Amino acid sequence: MLSGLRRIARGALFATARDWTDRLASSSPALVLAPHPDDETIGCGATILRKIAAGASVTVVVVTDGRHSHRSSYCSPEDLAALRRVEMADAAKRLGGPEVLWLDLPDGQAGTDVDALAERVGALVRERGVEDLFSTCAWEAHPDHAAVGRAARLVADRTGARLFEYPVWLWGSWPLAKGGRWSSFSQFARVALTGGAVTVRTAEVRDRKLHALAAHRTQLGHRPDGVPADEPWVSLPPAVLDDAGRGVELFLRYRGQADR
Ligand SMILES: [Zn+2]
Repeated sequence: MLSGLRRIARGALFATARDWTDRLASSSPALVLAPHPDDETIGCGATILRKIAAGASVTVVVVTDGRHSHRSSYCSPEDLAALRRVEMADAAKRLGGPEVLWLDLPDGQAGTDVDALAERVGALVRERGVEDLFSTCAWEAHPDHAAVGRAARLVADRTGARLFEYPVWLWGSWPLAKGGRWSSFSQFARVALTGGAVTVRTAEVRDRKLHALAAHRTQLGHRPDGVPADEPWVSLPPAVLDDAGRGVELFLRYRGQADR
């Protein structure tokens, strides 16, 4: 029942979102915040490709090292983090070569000090003259994604950068979120009624986006060397992969303190 209502809400957002491909695929300097290596490609790989093609400088800031995406007796968290670093470098090449910076927080701890995270990101935004900031959404249930989203909102408030939030894990629990049904529904209504959702067409860069996503091999079910076939090694869920392959990337525009 709830998941059906969420699906309807999601469909309504996609149906009413305005096409901002031309506005967002511009040459204005951009910074993409990824809580884990792979989020940048899932949520805005096409936008990164388009911006770089338009001559924009794009920086991808990977907040955590992603060491806990899998638990294995054969691949330590340190080894997994090292593998994901290589995968991220590969994905970045396939995305047209954005600069990649690592904040190296341990996976799962993006929210330990949101204010300090916002300070670090804010300094980068000022230093690089970033105008467009992309981040996972503060309304996501995943703690790292929500924390990075909260930090991004602080950065937008403090620097004046335009913030576009890309959903990755949002749709499984929003709107009508457990423990906050009314507030999450009113967030949804505000976004839907005030033109808060915009899209970038994936179209001709879709294949390159999916090629970049394929670089994140450990997240797509490929076991690292030495992990036997009988040890479970999960892939990103079909719903997330389906969204990554859609014809558009959806962004929720953050419009200041009222959206908190
Ligand atoms: Zn993530």
